Amino acid sequence: MATVRFVQVAGDPALELLNTVDWRLSEERRGELLGDAPRVLDWAAQTGFLDSAERVRLGEVVDRDTDAALALVNDAQRLRENAYAMLVGHDDAAAERVVERYRQSLVDARLAAATDGEALRWLEASTTPRTPVDRAVRGVVDLARSDRVRLLQQCADDVCGWVYLDTSPRHNRRWCSASDCGDRNRARAYYRRRRAAE
Ligand SMILES: [Zn+2]
Repeated sequence: MATVRFVQVAGDPALELLNTVDWRLSEERRGELLGDAPRVLDWAAQTGFLDSAERVRLGEVVDRDTDAALALVNDAQRLRENAYAMLVGHDDAAAERVVERYRQSLVDARLAAATDGEALRWLEASTTPRTPVDRAVRGVVDLARSDRVRLLQQCADDVCGWVYLDTSPRHNRRWCSASDCGDRNRARAYYRRRRAAE
C-alpha cells in the first residue's frame, strides 16, 4: 500500500494528531485519515513518534496480528478525540481520559538520557503497537501544560476543524493552510461580493 503523506500544519507534533480527521465539523464530509494500522504507523513516523526502524518493525507486527492492529487504530482515534475535546472543547471528562492514557504510557517507561549530556526523555522498555500513542499522549500532555497552548486556534473555515498554534507575529493567522482553506474561503467571499454588487 502506498504511503500517505500527512499534511502537517499544526506546529506541534502532538497537535497534528487532532488534524487526522478531514472536515471534522461536517457530518456528511467528515473523513477519517487513521482508518487502519498502517496509516497510524505512517502518521506516527512522519510526525516523529516512531523512527524508521520502529515503523518497519511495527508494520510487521500489525500485519500478522489483527487484534494488535485494531487496538492501535482504536487507541489512536480515542486519544485524538479525547485530546480534541480537552484542548478545543475544554472538556474535563475528556481531560481525565487523556490523563488515564498518559498514566498507562508511563508504566513501562523510564526517564533517562539516551546519550550522556542530552535532556532526559521517556524511554520505553520495548517498542510495541502501544508505543506511537504512548509517545503522542505524552506530547499532548506536555503541550496542554505549556504556555504555548494559549496559541491554539481552529481554522476559520466553517467545516475544516483543523487546529494549529498561531505563532504569526501579529497572531492573526486564520487558516490551517493559506493555500487550501484560505484560498477557498477568499474565493467564496469574492464571489459573494461580486454577486452582491450585481
Ligand atoms: Zn482549514
